[in-house]
Amino acid sequence: MTIVINMRDGIDERKIKVVARFILEGKLVAFPTETVYGLGANALNVSAVRRIFEAKGRPTDNPLIIHIADFSDLKRLAREIPREAKLLAERFWPGPLTIVLPKAEDVPDVTTGGLDTVAVRMPSHPIALALIRASTPIAAPSANISGKPSPTLAEHVVDDFYGKIEVIIDGGETNVGVESTVVDLTSDKPVLLRPGGLPLEEIEKVVGEVEIHPAVMGKTVGIARSPGMKYRHYSPNAQVIVVEGERERVRRKIAQLVGEYRSKGYRVGVMATEKYEANEFFYLGKSEEEVARNLFKALRALDKRGVDIIIAEGVEERGLGLAVMNRLRKASGYRVIRA
Ligand code: AMP
Ligand code: MG
Repeated sequence: MTIVINMRDGIDERKIKVVARFILEGKLVAFPTETVYGLGANALNVSAVRRIFEAKGRPTDNPLIIHIADFSDLKRLAREIPREAKLLAERFWPGPLTIVLPKAEDVPDVTTGGLDTVAVRMPSHPIALALIRASTPIAAPSANISGKPSPTLAEHVVDDFYGKIEVIIDGGETNVGVESTVVDLTSDKPVLLRPGGLPLEEIEKVVGEVEIHPAVMGKTVGIARSPGMKYRHYSPNAQVIVVEGERERVRRKIAQLVGEYRSKGYRVGVMATEKYEANEFFYLGKSEEEVARNLFKALRALDKRGVDIIIAEGVEERGLGLAVMNRLRKASGYRVIRA
């Protein structure tokens, strides 16, 4: 009962119209955005939004991002639109930036997880924009089972949701590869709630200093021993171990860990920006853009190749590196080693 629609070679407006009708009827549709694939439903339809939470196994207090295609849609969703919101939207929309504003009455509580605020973004992917334009604002979290790595290919969505949702639009691989940056504009100063596809440095050029919510950093050493399972997020079945630090030391540490775990009989995968000997290896690319694009694909691919342990090379925490490290640390349940 899941229809997979191929739009890898471009938009088919006729099919978009059909899928838009599905959205308006309260059905679930997975579609590509420039960040990752989203699992979408009519943001203003309570029972449709409930189905998103059920399908993902997502806790009901974890709010959804509403995707719009036109700035004027924001007025229906937000009670107030501060100056910073206008500045950021003007500069970065459509794009991988989500802003949090006071919620308008029209927005159902289920969509915002009971909060009095609403998260909104305008994606830049042409399929996402066309679908929203042809239907309505769409609530769409990442199209993965809660706790799993986010999907950057339609195949990932098929793995998690085939038979459970009505439509999957295959638009090929997503370009950014990590989710949107989330900035809260409801207090005096902008607060970064989640690093993502738009670097913090870019945002600060427009609105000045942005406070970083403490949860963002999930600082390595202190939390390393806290009960990781509770925080599992973006996690493959294999145990992820992140190795951070100076390049040469990281190189040696990873090689050492691979040796140790293999000698104990584990199948070990490595994901890194340079070649390592291991049971399985996934090359992440050189630039921070490539690493971000390949991150979730690497986690899912190594899992499929049946490794027990994934050793991930840490990257520098600037630009997209902040989002990459945030995902990697969570994926590891904060099993982070400083080389
Ligand atoms: P996902 O769509 O799965 O990438 O997750 C959406 C992210 O946006 C989560 O980290 C949410 O906690 C965050 N978010 C959504 N709505 C709000 C809101 N009203 N206030 C704060 N964070 C939000
Ligand atoms: Mg998600």
